Amino acid sequence: MPQPQNIIAIVYDYDRTLSPWSMQDDVLFKRLGLDGKEFWEKTNRLKADRLYDDEMAWIRLLLETPDFRSLGNGDLKLMGQDLRLYPGVPDVFSELGGFLNNEEYKRHGIVLEHYIVTSGLQAILTGSVLNNQVERIFGCELDEDSSGTVFWPKRVISHTGKTQYLFRITKGLEYMDFSRDVNDHMPDNERRIPFYNMLYIGDGPTDVPSFAVVTSRGGKALAVYDGESQASFETCMSLREAQRVDEIAEADYRGDTHLRRLMEHYVKQMAIRIVANQELEHSKKVIKAPRHG
Ligand SMILES: [Mg+2]
Repeated sequence: MPQPQNIIAIVYDYDRTLSPWSMQDDVLFKRLGLDGKEFWEKTNRLKADRLYDDEMAWIRLLLETPDFRSLGNGDLKLMGQDLRLYPGVPDVFSELGGFLNNEEYKRHGIVLEHYIVTSGLQAILTGSVLNNQVERIFGCELDEDSSGTVFWPKRVISHTGKTQYLFRITKGLEYMDFSRDVNDHMPDNERRIPFYNMLYIGDGPTDVPSFAVVTSRGGKALAVYDGESQASFETCMSLREAQRVDEIAEADYRGDTHLRRLMEHYVKQMAIRIVANQELEHSKKVIKAPRHG
């Protein structure tokens, strides 16, 4: 059945997009007493020498760390409280929809939703302040053994695998249930949130598959950089120059920043298009009076 398609979604990466750090560097290694640099070097060795996928490599190394194996998902969740976020996060989530709060947009039932899709650990993010600000967080999940400690990956979201979750978001709530095959065909007008109503925000090459899926279907993509890092700026510029993203901005989500203006601009453009489409549909339904004479 055709959907009203009056929902706009902003989908965020997490590591270095909503936070200057990866969640492992920010809260996990501290707790485990691990040296982050050494850990990532070992991860890179597994990738180079034994051709591991990135996520499989770091998850294996964590599960081989006895102190990590003694944790449950509840412990990971508690660590989420200590995550450090970029300025303006999480307030941006509630503030951004503010300008949609006018009569015209309300009459057309326009709603803004936020989602996070990360290749990091979902459990850590669900324990953070982000959890009740967004519709849904998708990330890697670990299963617990009979003693309640993590022992095996249940779901791994690789960089390319992230796009599967973008499709789940466009197709609607029933597709958030993982037992539902995301590859079922669904025409554009039946999607709850078509890609042209989606803005994706990421920080680097790991977001390229997601940038490509969203922009090739009419959505918008933004790359954010750490204002204190020239390298991060250069990465974003190269994405911009290769036309992987529509715009780039410093990762400062507070009001009146360049990033906030861009986010508001794209959401507004989407809202204006929704109003125009709905009015067009409505006018098609109005029966014209018969001509006399
Ligand atoms: Mg990232």
